[in-house]
Amino acid sequence: MTNFDIIKQLSDNTEITEILGRAVNNGSLDINNNINNNINNNINNNINNNINNNITNSIDPLDLGDGKKLLGCNDLNLLGAAADTLRKRSAGDLVTFVIDRNINYTNICTSKCKFCAFYREPDAKDAYVLSIEKILEKVDEAVRLGATQILIQGGLNPDIPIEYYEKMLKEVKKKFNVQMHAFSPPEIVHISKLYGAGIKETISRLHEAGLDSIPGGGAEILDDRVRDSVSPKKIGWKKWQEVMLAAHSLGIPTTATMVFGHEETLEERIKHIIRVRDMQKKYHGFTAFIPWTFQSENTGLIGTSTGIDYLKMVAVSRILLDGHIQNIQASWVTQGIDVAQMALDFGANDLGGTMIEENVVRAAGVPFHSKSIDEFIHAARKLGRPVAKRDTLYNIIERY
Ligand code: SF4
Repeated sequence: MTNFDIIKQLSDNTEITEILGRAVNNGSLDINNNINNNINNNINNNINNNINNNITNSIDPLDLGDGKKLLGCNDLNLLGAAADTLRKRSAGDLVTFVIDRNINYTNICTSKCKFCAFYREPDAKDAYVLSIEKILEKVDEAVRLGATQILIQGGLNPDIPIEYYEKMLKEVKKKFNVQMHAFSPPEIVHISKLYGAGIKETISRLHEAGLDSIPGGGAEILDDRVRDSVSPKKIGWKKWQEVMLAAHSLGIPTTATMVFGHEETLEERIKHIIRVRDMQKKYHGFTAFIPWTFQSENTGLIGTSTGIDYLKMVAVSRILLDGHIQNIQASWVTQGIDVAQMALDFGANDLGGTMIEENVVRAAGVPFHSKSIDEFIHAARKLGRPVAKRDTLYNIIERY
């Protein structure tokens, strides 16, 4: 008997227990597929498994109305227990993390999103573009600290020549054995305009230069009502989808993110998750879903999310994405390690990166200190869970 079985007997919310019961029962039909994905934990196998298992993934999933009811439900224990049951079944008990560094090559950006405290005008005193030499220096430092992943993102800077991106990737890959998790969809679209090429061709060229995978940034909320208000100059949600599906069709994995707690409604949050789920049905190219709360300091918006809202969102993400995306990441950067640890009991199975460097969330007023491996190991062990270092594609590197 699972915790969910026990807690649902104590609940008098029959509508919510019925929805959660459906999620848990549907998920059990996917179990063989998920076990195979766990064993063959790399993107190509995931893509193949998905292609071979479209039948299991076609099971009628929870819909928008179900998701809204779950997010509106105040029984955190019930939601958490269902999400934890699904997490245990699809991802197992293992808590994973990656050693990584975020390098932001420029903070000059024409998009000027309302929620962003990171971007600068070209003539600002602290505007910058990192030289390739500086980027190599940062990668070198990270590799010496054990990093296997370098996350590269920056502003939409119209004055960076196209050769810069290719040279950056080529030089890093020539000198270091690291995975280049680089350029979110708005940057890919921006670069494609600089290339004067289509999105698929642009991704292919960057891939040839050394791009391994694409981070899911720039998703915020995948709904154009919200995007037109908070980031009107940024790509719409369909363009985000186009980039991700183009990458997946080329066998290039990506992550999917969600930034919530600003101007969106609960319905728009659920729409976001369902859109990600629909995209995933095509190529199974998302390796992880990463929800995190909007951080408002130094921005033009007000942040509305609490820790409880965050835990609820993690749980609902796991429940709606069950059988589609195996890894749900806890965001210690925005929540702190204690709430991230709690998220591991609310559907998350991964602690993300140690982040030797992070600049974007820090610019929005969040005190930032990168995490040591020991802190992650401690957080997992306190829950009685095994813990391991992974690479970008969730292959296990070392167990602790
Ligand atoms: S979020 Fe990204 S695209 Fe928007 S202003 Fe900031 S750096 Fe530019």
